Amino acid sequence: MSPNEYKDSRSTPYPLPFHRLIESLRNLPGIGVKTATKLAFHLLKAPVEEVCQLSQDLLQLREALDLCPQCQNIMEPMEEKSLPCSICRNPSRDGATVMVVEDVQTLYAIERSGEFRGLYHVLMGRLSPLEGIGPDALRIQELARRMDSGEVHELILATSPTAEGEATALYLSRLFKPMGLKVSRIAFGIPIGLELEFVDDITLIRSVEGRRPM
Ligand SMILES: [Zn+2]
Repeated sequence: MSPNEYKDSRSTPYPLPFHRLIESLRNLPGIGVKTATKLAFHLLKAPVEEVCQLSQDLLQLREALDLCPQCQNIMEPMEEKSLPCSICRNPSRDGATVMVVEDVQTLYAIERSGEFRGLYHVLMGRLSPLEGIGPDALRIQELARRMDSGEVHELILATSPTAEGEATALYLSRLFKPMGLKVSRIAFGIPIGLELEFVDDITLIRSVEGRRPM
């Protein structure tokens, strides 16, 4: 490594490896330099086994997780690759109702409330013409394929109440309503513009209960 690459560290009082760890932690959402430094000092003092376990978990995060072939939820890899996740496989859940969410965080936020007994579909994003994200970049084709089975009767569109989330809901409504599906949009006691993953569980489940037809 050339000395020039050390440039960033000149402004910090810390040795380079410690400085790098702080910078890596700072890249995580919601972590500022103060929290990153606190975490780095914690890891410095923590037992070596604990730190090894953490680094192993981080390394395996991508390798040891698959996406459910049906709903795109994250799941442990199965020997039989076509098997869906535990939510999709649960026979006590209502397969006629599918809630469409932007991301896995929102799925788990709704799941934590324990009130929704249907299935999910994770879009892996939302329409954003400005960022060049069109329908093909989302898991909309997979959703359309699920409709082919005829088992789904209602789609609950639970995209965020942002301009892009609303545009995504409108697009899906126009696509699926003509197929004879009941399509509803969750009601918002939720501040407009807020990402759903940050909404508290009770507000979230009330907004599902108060959904309105589209
Ligand atoms: Zn699934």
